[in-house]
Amino acid sequence: MIDLQLHSCYSDGSLTPFELVKEAKNLDLSAIALTDHDTIEGLPEFLQAGAELNMITVPGVEISVDVSLPNIGHCHLLGLFIDPNHLELKNKLNYLRYHRNERAKKILEKLDTIGIHINLEDLRNEAGDNSIGRPHIAQILVKNNIVSTLQEAFDLYLAKGKPAYVDKIKFNEQEAIRLIKDSGGLAILAHPHLMNFPTISELKNKILQLKELGLDGFEVYYSTMPKTLSSEIIRFAEDHNFAISGGSDYHGKNKEGIFMGIGKGDLKIPDQIYFQLKEKWENEKKNKSFAEK
Ligand code: AMP
Ligand code: ZN
Ligand code: FE
Repeated sequence: MIDLQLHSCYSDGSLTPFELVKEAKNLDLSAIALTDHDTIEGLPEFLQAGAELNMITVPGVEISVDVSLPNIGHCHLLGLFIDPNHLELKNKLNYLRYHRNERAKKILEKLDTIGIHINLEDLRNEAGDNSIGRPHIAQILVKNNIVSTLQEAFDLYLAKGKPAYVDKIKFNEQEAIRLIKDSGGLAILAHPHLMNFPTISELKNKILQLKELGLDGFEVYYSTMPKTLSSEIIRFAEDHNFAISGGSDYHGKNKEGIFMGIGKGDLKIPDQIYFQLKEKWENEKKNKSFAEK
């Protein structure tokens, strides 16, 4: 069994990359991927731990993509088998991080104008090593008894259209796919059902559009994906030569009820999926170096 979507404390997971590998070892998994949100800073530790503990570790990333979708859906692209030292990828992701910090300051300014004062230092402490997001600000609003739940913080202040909302920059789908491909990775659409397309055929159209931009495949194994959808898009993948992938989206104790390897309890991703992805990646690499000659 394998698990190709894990988050560490370098983004919003609770375990270190080393602890993730150790846990995978305990669970007797055969291969895992670290796919932190918009950062690859955890990859050196992850790969080192894989070498030390003799676990197949796939260097990855999960990039949030800016695309207008119906029903507040969101689009995340996974890069699997990326080069962990790719300079352009690192620089672009660092820029996003910088921008997030600037955005956080603007959110605090907006809160300030409506009489809610949050200290930037407190916010930095709340976020720790992670890049600052609205959930951190929501945490502080709860701690300071300004709201009673995280959801209330969003509903009253932080959600789109509310008084302290500030947009954040994201890559568009073209940039994200190009960046993943340029850094040597396979571009895989994460949890396609969470784009919330009203019909399967609209989802398929979107996936075919992304294929034109270089998409290599999509996740099929994911705890919350409806069974009817997964069986239908497995056939779709076969018809269009897409790779398929999957993972638990484990965040340690930061997302309750989701476990490594088994997701919400029912997930089982065969080793075969890893080998097929690896084969596709190796073929892509060969084609690329052939094209460059
Ligand atoms: P950010 O990346 O800073 O924009 O924060 C995004 C995160 O905030 C999402 O992953 C959700 O966890 C949370 N979030 C965004 N919108 C809402 C909302 N309307 N209600 C509750 N949580 C939200
Ligand atoms: Zn996450
Ligand atoms: Fe995601």
